[in-house]
Amino acid sequence: MQVSQQIVSQFRRKRLFIAATVAALVIFLTLAFRFFEEKNRIEQQSHTFANEAILRFDRMFSPLDVSANDNLGLVGQRCSDVRFTLVEKLAALQTLRSLLLVESDSIYCSSIFGERTLSFSKIYPELAIHNQRMLLTTDNYLLKGSPVLILWTPISQDNNKSGILQVINVEMMSNYLLEPTLPWVERAIFNVGGKSLEYGTPLIQPAIPSEDEVSYEEASLRYPYTITLFGPSPARLALAAVPSQLPLALLLSLLTGYIVWLATANRMSIAWEISYGLSSHEFLVYCQPLINARTGECDGIELLLRWNNPRQGWVPPDVFIPMAERQNLIAPLTRYVINEVVSQLPSLPDTPDFHIALNVAASHFHNRAILNDLQHLWWPANPRQQLVIELTERDALPVVDQRVVSHLQKAGVKLAIDDFGTGHSSLSYLKTLSPDVLKIDKIFTASIGTDAINATVTDMVISLAQRLNISLVAEGVETAEQAAYLRERGVDILQGYYFARPMPLADFPTWLSER
Ligand code: C2E
Ligand code: CA
Ligand code: CA
Repeated sequence: MQVSQQIVSQFRRKRLFIAATVAALVIFLTLAFRFFEEKNRIEQQSHTFANEAILRFDRMFSPLDVSANDNLGLVGQRCSDVRFTLVEKLAALQTLRSLLLVESDSIYCSSIFGERTLSFSKIYPELAIHNQRMLLTTDNYLLKGSPVLILWTPISQDNNKSGILQVINVEMMSNYLLEPTLPWVERAIFNVGGKSLEYGTPLIQPAIPSEDEVSYEEASLRYPYTITLFGPSPARLALAAVPSQLPLALLLSLLTGYIVWLATANRMSIAWEISYGLSSHEFLVYCQPLINARTGECDGIELLLRWNNPRQGWVPPDVFIPMAERQNLIAPLTRYVINEVVSQLPSLPDTPDFHIALNVAASHFHNRAILNDLQHLWWPANPRQQLVIELTERDALPVVDQRVVSHLQKAGVKLAIDDFGTGHSSLSYLKTLSPDVLKIDKIFTASIGTDAINATVTDMVISLAQRLNISLVAEGVETAEQAAYLRERGVDILQGYYFARPMPLADFPTWLSER
């Protein structure tokens, strides 16, 4: 039984392993899922931040754009005539610091300083020569050194040397349009033509991310500027949030692990393995020849099951038969054997003297099940061979329904008591079951010539059977000495490795013909 316990605990270990693997996988997947979700959320938030900033800047520029276009008519007029109008406009547009009129490359009128003569292309070559419409620069006239944004509106596409310059207080604007939202936006930067103004610094300088920051940039579709955001990498932020997801992941994993544990109870059980083995033909029917002690001829075979389980290797019948009995699967196994032997009947000796011995568990006698099975599987094949049913004494023989036994015997089936002498109160069955055959267990055969006590029992069993006119089969004959001893004492049939080891049923006809 140790081997069977080993197999059961192997099944349990396998189940535990699967449940634990699934649980670990669930933890991993939950955390991975939450990680990617969080990372996406952070990326989405940076994206939203940039879009909203652009929307707000665009909204700020658009009235300036409109007003500049409306006032292009002032360009060319005398500064003293239009200066008051300029100041008025300035007062209406709060974001503006000053308004300048440019004609034929000369800045000739300022809302603040009045008349001037400055070369447009010298002071603002980016606008006058490089056709930029916006310029981020430092104020050199009013609040010296402070950042300003200049919006250039030329009179027409062809005349780039006349138009209106609007000087915007960009620092003030940026300070409320670019306020970072921690933790994912640490720095927000406004860029125009390669120059940058960062929230919180009054200097125009290139923006460089620090080592552990990543950047995200989005451009306005209406004006030539972009917004750059710097912040910790979304993956890093998401990773930092992972530990807080652990309780949920653990809960889910425990739950699924438990469900898998329950769900595999059936699939991983021995019962499932045996049923699966039956349906996928992992079981093989072997047979061992029965030798007539007088003539030396092969008088029959005993059918023995073998299980080649691809997951466990060969499982010995001493292990799986008792398990099958406990799981109520012994009858399907026996039916399997009957089916196999019936399909091979044509290749077996076709005489009533040829015995085919089938091992049947006592439980199979319950409710006449064995009778039903023979009626469905054995008799319809019209076999001429003699069927022998071997009932092992290890089973609870007293529960065997005597009526079923007499029914079988009437139908011409012989009954053998297997492993005779190893069970208890053996003698009483001789009366109640009136068997046709007694099989002397291999431990008695092995005792011949070595163990005086068991050899005495062997002699007693032999003479008992002879007195009751029951034929005798000796199992486990391994030596010539044992064979001679048993033959001398009149045992009818000998079975054992000395004559032949169990072989696949399909190999038996060849074995027989080669003999
Ligand atoms: P068993 O019915 O007593 O079968 C005889 C066992 O002795 C077989 O073991 C056989 O291989 C082994 N044997 C034969 N000759 C020798 C020998 O010379 N020396 C030794 N040491 N052993 C020998 P196996 O095939 O391992 O079967 C073990 C037991 O499993 C069987 O004992 C039987 O009780 C049970 N079994 C096997 N097949 C079936 C089956 O189809 N149905 C049922 N209900 N039980 C089965
Ligand atoms: Ca047997
Ligand atoms: Ca036996």
